[in-house]
Amino acid sequence: MNLEKVWKTALKDIKESVPASSFQAWIKSANLISLENNKATLEVRNEFSRNLLIQNYYRVISKALETSSGVPVNLIIQVNSNLPHDYIPSLSSIAEDLPNNTSPNGSLKIIPNSGLSSSNGFLPHNLNPKFVFDNFIVGGHNQFCHAAALAIAEGRSEGAYNPFFIYGEVGLGKTHIMQSIGNYLLSKKPQAKVLYLSAEKFLNDLISSMRKSKMNEFRNRYRSLDLLLIDDIQFIEGKETTQEEFFHTFNALKDNGSQIILTSDRPPKAISKLEPRLCSRFEGGLLADVQSPTYETRLAILARKAEILKIKLKPDIADLIAQCFPENVRRLEGALVKLQAYVNFTSRPLTMELTKKVLGIDIAQAEIISAGNKDLTEEDSNLKSGENTDKMLKKIAEAVAEKLQVTSSKIFSRDNTQEVKNARQICMAIARSAGLSMQDISLGFDGRGNSSILNSCRRVRKEAKNDKELNTLLTEIEAQIKL
Ligand code: ADP
Ligand code: MG
Repeated sequence: MNLEKVWKTALKDIKESVPASSFQAWIKSANLISLENNKATLEVRNEFSRNLLIQNYYRVISKALETSSGVPVNLIIQVNSNLPHDYIPSLSSIAEDLPNNTSPNGSLKIIPNSGLSSSNGFLPHNLNPKFVFDNFIVGGHNQFCHAAALAIAEGRSEGAYNPFFIYGEVGLGKTHIMQSIGNYLLSKKPQAKVLYLSAEKFLNDLISSMRKSKMNEFRNRYRSLDLLLIDDIQFIEGKETTQEEFFHTFNALKDNGSQIILTSDRPPKAISKLEPRLCSRFEGGLLADVQSPTYETRLAILARKAEILKIKLKPDIADLIAQCFPENVRRLEGALVKLQAYVNFTSRPLTMELTKKVLGIDIAQAEIISAGNKDLTEEDSNLKSGENTDKMLKKIAEAVAEKLQVTSSKIFSRDNTQEVKNARQICMAIARSAGLSMQDISLGFDGRGNSSILNSCRRVRKEAKNDKELNTLLTEIEAQIKL
């Protein structure tokens, strides 16, 4: 098989299906170095390109290669560090680029959200003025949630959506939409008694009031509100006294016809140590989930944020950022804020080159965070990539399959029956703690996205805390794969 011809033909197909800027920046320069026994190996210049191709274009490239070669293809993307590295910077090299070595973080503008007292002399409502409906971009991923939020804010829900329970993964706009309701209400009725706080703050307030024997004041404070917004309610999981007090606060507010809005990283049923009576109260209102935005919505969010930050974003740069952060609006926004900072610091125009530098930092940071605080050195991760990774994943899958009585081939398949899914998630969690990178795991499991892998790992580790049997199973398999 003529590799060059296969790759050239595939490139033509790929070019049709990906944005021109991405094709130019990431795909064109890759090399197909082998195609044997249905295994196609593509080489790219650096880890950044590899991450990006796996996360965004794995399927497109695989499909194009299958069409051009006429055989089913299992695609491996690897880094060839001998190919010229053109833009992946180290953190220190970027710091050196800045005048006087100013820390990039020093530039982030934080809009103050505290110190605000509501005009009625009541408690400070703690709302961040930047979280308003006007700044919130609506897409398919949050349409339902947004519509419900607006209905509540405008008083059209007539108490039917009480509580309003918003859930979804981090960085998807739950806090923003929740606070938008508070800000809207205050803009229409400045005398309204509104309070926003995290569940953690609620707990701290409760403890301190108990200690100071000021429970009456505590109760009066919360129970006289018109609108109570509690963020990240999953925090009260397993905290019985807080749940007890919150239950009474909740009932008192509801009886008064006051609105309660809660957010959580999961639906009420999935908060395992939540009193059943609270769970059923939460479910008795309106549940709305927010999901990851589509590419088009990400572009719209970027355009809006760029306008707010007064950055001129060229379409190819906006496209690049939207491509790089598929799952989390906070990271999308973070990239933009950093770009603005670099432009301000260096007084350079916002070029593709500069954008890649800044995005390079984010990808590297995300990898470190998602490595579960494991400080994997580059050397470690190189050692674990490639064939060793394949072997390791197989070994893990075989051990898990044996214990859970499923077949290891099913673990690697798209079979989504509960038992196979469960076994697959356990494999991912073990692979992660064995030091395999997100990309390697993604590659092993059919190009699965980072958030799906991270969620699986989190779920398994969390369940293992309460489930002795699962904990033992994990320990045994981890010991077994080390042999
Ligand atoms: P969560 O509470 O779900 O973790 P946040 O509400 O804190 O997420 O959102 C993270 C950041 O992303 C915030 O700065 C928020 O303004 C922004 N954001 C999220 N979704 C949207 C959206 N649909 N439109 C505009 N900005 C958004
Ligand atoms: Mg939040």
